[in-house]
Amino acid sequence: MTVPRILVVGGGYVGMYAALRLQRKLRRAEARVTVVNYDSYMTYQPFLPEAAAGSIEPRHVVVPLRRVLSRCEILNGTILRVSLAEKTAEFRPHEGPERVLGFDYLVFSPGSISRVLPIPGLAERGIGFKTVEEAIHLRNHVLGKLDVAASSSDERLRRRALTFVFVGAGFAGVEALGELEDMVSDAVKYFHGLRRQDMRWFLIEATDRILPEVGPDMGRWTAEQFRRRGIDVRLHTRLLSAENGHIVLDDGEEFDAETLVWTAGVKPHPLVRYGDLPLDSRDRVLANEFLQIQGARFAFTAGDTAAVPDLTRPGEFCPPNAQHAVRQARRMADNILATIRSRPCKPYRHTNAGAVAALGLRKGVGQIYGRELRGIVAWLMHRTYHLSRMPTFNRKSRILADWTLALFFRREIVSLGALQRPREEFELAARTTTPHRPAREPVTH
Ligand SMILES: Cc1cc2nc3c(=O)[nH]c(=O)nc-3n(C[C@H](O)[C@H](O)[C@H](O)COP(=O)(O)OP(=O)(O)OC[C@H]3O[C@@H](n4cnc5c(N)ncnc54)[C@H](O)[C@@H]3O)c2cc1C
Repeated sequence: MTVPRILVVGGGYVGMYAALRLQRKLRRAEARVTVVNYDSYMTYQPFLPEAAAGSIEPRHVVVPLRRVLSRCEILNGTILRVSLAEKTAEFRPHEGPERVLGFDYLVFSPGSISRVLPIPGLAERGIGFKTVEEAIHLRNHVLGKLDVAASSSDERLRRRALTFVFVGAGFAGVEALGELEDMVSDAVKYFHGLRRQDMRWFLIEATDRILPEVGPDMGRWTAEQFRRRGIDVRLHTRLLSAENGHIVLDDGEEFDAETLVWTAGVKPHPLVRYGDLPLDSRDRVLANEFLQIQGARFAFTAGDTAAVPDLTRPGEFCPPNAQHAVRQARRMADNILATIRSRPCKPYRHTNAGAVAALGLRKGVGQIYGRELRGIVAWLMHRTYHLSRMPTFNRKSRILADWTLALFFRREIVSLGALQRPREEFELAARTTTPHRPAREPVTH
């Protein structure tokens, strides 16, 4: 007798939590679970801003899939296409030949990618904030710009290096800016000739509010806090161009900036369009209340990729966030088990509890079940909540250790930008005739 296969496409929030529950609850030989993910780890995205600010070691915000899913088969590479009709998925490993993976049950959870607009210069100069690699790069880049400014007497160059622009005032943009500005304000005292006032931080937002997840009052409060910290918050403002690092805004202002972070929303992963998945007008995979893909009772979807009806707000869909993703993953795993065991599935229903965001060390904002939280209380809530959600005791302990150390020691202010050029020193040694390192390429993320 062949054991049915549950194929999990994407090992992020939904994929990892669903596989975790399945491996715990499946009986012997009831089914086997294969998880396909680009990377060998799951990224705990709510901790990326703290990783960028150096409060948490970046390695600790990722979860090694092979360790936590020890009873699942883990494959690293790309799923290129999914066929519900044939119950197959085309898989390309990072090296070696492509192959077709058959499945009996499917978890489709490749998440989302940044929604990038066709703005001149954006693709060349911008950087997103969704992966641990981007968080590490941004930290090195920002600290590297302080090194550049502190080492130059060219006023134009200094000003350009010390101008940081964030576009999009949702969770990712506000938290990343809040944490990085806080880190730089702390670090600047070690850079001779630089002052906090020399830096310009911009938060550019097209709508009339920031951080909609915490409600309008707390959004206004956050904007006010940012302005007090010297951050230029521009609402009703759009980025028109970023060619060669020259920023043009639609309110008429123009200036040069070496740092442009794009966090203006996400859209479903493009994989949704390769295959026969039913999509809505926003390219989300259509799910019913049992998290089944419409028209396929053996295939399930959730998270940022999916349009899941929100039963607590009839006619609307669940927003793409971790709060829903984790809970949907659990319901989905239970529904898969129910399907395998010929039992009825249960609908997914969750009332939004609210949200908390960190805005730097000991600074936060939130709204939980209608209660507004601000300052250190919100910050502690953010840390406690996300620490409790972090999978495995091992990861929780490491993060707690990072935070504890940060209480006693000052932050690291070293830019390890050269990590992206590890062979430079050896190439210089091999050439021997050149007495100095070649001028480095400017970092143009
Ligand atoms: C900086 C940041 C901060 C956030 N903070 C919060 C917060 O505080 N609270 C909150 O509720 N939400 C927060 N979110 C949102 C939350 O992280 C997402 O909603 C959640 O990760 C969605 O889960 P998912 O499983 O759908 O996608 P993901 O977690 O993104 O997982 C998708 C996985 O699929 C893999 N994948 C994609 N395509 C393929 C393919 N073709 N083949 C193989 N693998 C593939 C990806 O590599 C990834 O590992 C934050 C997001 C960011 C970026």
